[in-house]
Amino acid sequence: MIILTDFSDNLVALYEYMPGQALVVDPPDAASVLRALDANGLRLTTILATHHHGDHVGGISGLKRQTGCVVYGSDAARIPEMDQVVTEEQAIQLGPATIKTMETPGHTRTEVCYYRLPGAGEASGLLWAGDTLFVGGCGRLFEGTAEQMYDAFQKLKALPDDTQVYCGHEYTVENYQFALTIEPDNQAIQDALAVAEQALARGHPTVPSTIGQEKRTNLFMQATSIEAFASLRRQKDHF
Ligand SMILES: [Zn+2]
Repeated sequence: MIILTDFSDNLVALYEYMPGQALVVDPPDAASVLRALDANGLRLTTILATHHHGDHVGGISGLKRQTGCVVYGSDAARIPEMDQVVTEEQAIQLGPATIKTMETPGHTRTEVCYYRLPGAGEASGLLWAGDTLFVGGCGRLFEGTAEQMYDAFQKLKALPDDTQVYCGHEYTVENYQFALTIEPDNQAIQDALAVAEQALARGHPTVPSTIGQEKRTNLFMQATSIEAFASLRRQKDHF
């Protein structure tokens, strides 16, 4: 996985799903993705869009024009140049990679995550969580309800613990800082914050996390009721 970070705080995953062939998730602009394709000798066949926000779809038109790639997404009205509409549990087959769509409304009402099942001989799958699940946190509720987002989190929690998690923004440090205002003595979160700060200091993104790590260090993953989840989300809105 190549993570492009040359945007404000967007984390863009460029994934070589078979030798020489790549997909990109939520490209904010075309130029930096084209440069990365070139530098790594990759051909772009596919764009996966998790939602319609401009900082996730801004690169779609340019990339499609330059590469002829196929665009998957859940919202034909708001995601530009879509070729394939995805729905719950839909399987996308790209060479040897099977990618399953998970509907996760909350951040937007048509949000989806993409889960790549473990390939042959691989122990773990991959999750592209868009702006639903962040490392240590949860997306803002722009269109959906806390109940919808809570339900989305229950779906993501059901994935295997070793699933590698890639999210749409580098919000990790801020998320852990917020979590420590709620649980100041939480050692697992203190440790995770230190690791994240070290990664950033070395110029590395804080992805991937894993579902298991999120269960240990993400208070939104640990919320056991819609009410507790909604209360956390409200407090984070004012952090
Ligand atoms: Zn968004």
